[in-house]
Amino acid sequence: MNSSVVGVVGAGVMGVGVAQSLAQTGYRVIILDISEEILKHAREEIAKNIRFQRLLSKARDQESVDAVMERIRFTTEYAPFADADFVIENVTEKWDIKKKIHEQLDTVCPEHCVFVANTSAISITRIGSVTKRPGKVIGMHFMNPVPMKPMVEVIRGYHTSEETIATAKELLAKMGKECVVVKDMPGFVSNRVLMLTVNEAVFLVQDQVAAAEEIDTIFKSCFGHKMGPLETADLIGLDTILYSIEVLYESFSDSKYRPCPLLRKMVDAGLYGRKSGQGFYTYK
Ligand code: NAD
Repeated sequence: MNSSVVGVVGAGVMGVGVAQSLAQTGYRVIILDISEEILKHAREEIAKNIRFQRLLSKARDQESVDAVMERIRFTTEYAPFADADFVIENVTEKWDIKKKIHEQLDTVCPEHCVFVANTSAISITRIGSVTKRPGKVIGMHFMNPVPMKPMVEVIRGYHTSEETIATAKELLAKMGKECVVVKDMPGFVSNRVLMLTVNEAVFLVQDQVAAAEEIDTIFKSCFGHKMGPLETADLIGLDTILYSIEVLYESFSDSKYRPCPLLRKMVDAGLYGRKSGQGFYTYK
């Protein structure tokens, strides 16, 4: 059991995975989102994922689902964050939303609390700039699904201190994860490349060069990728892909990041991929 308290903001695809991993590491977790309905869904998802993990694992000493769930507190209020030693923020990839949340957290959280932004593309230096603790703000680009992915891209903002980097590495090591630390530029390493690849793959579908399955098959069979770019897009969430490529487009003022109109149309139609049941593929 770990005495540190970790706040998790956002109970969507990533927040749920981060909260589960932290609770399984022994941390006490407070997870916040905007409605009780979202929190109810998050609670069900975490319990379901732990059950599934237990079925797949051969380890005999696993904690019960209830024991892990007891360490997670679900809330729509910021007041409990007054006890947080770390906060991991995982809200929608929109600057205006992330900005307000980090400003709010800065007023509630104790001085020693480290702010971790789990973002696909938004600059960590920019997030740090809206707080009074830019030295304690760091990026952690977790991979999805969080409990199953051992590697994290860690981003050092302009003012991020060495102490914060050491603290972040320690937190990840306890969670059983390794990291690569990179400097701050929108999209960092992974998404500066991945978002362009996915966006271009959507253009291929739009231009009727090939069907989604054919595009993914080429990447899997020819390059040995585990998943093709469109399967990856469905896993990440097409809304998150669109918002990330928009961040890159605005941040670099470079037309190479212009979002594919088909991507925007699919998001407008509510086709978000796995989380909505329909994207480039259909999910039950
Ligand atoms: P998501 O849409 O599944 O979840 C976002 C959550 O944020 C939602 O539950 C939403 O209700 C909540 N939210 C929105 N506004 C809020 C507010 N004002 N206060 C509290 N909660 C609020 O998105 P996601 O896929 O979980 O992505 C979250 C972050 O993680 C994004 O920045 C994304 O770029 C990043 N990310 C996503 C992936 C991925 O594969 N999906 C991977 C790495 C990083």
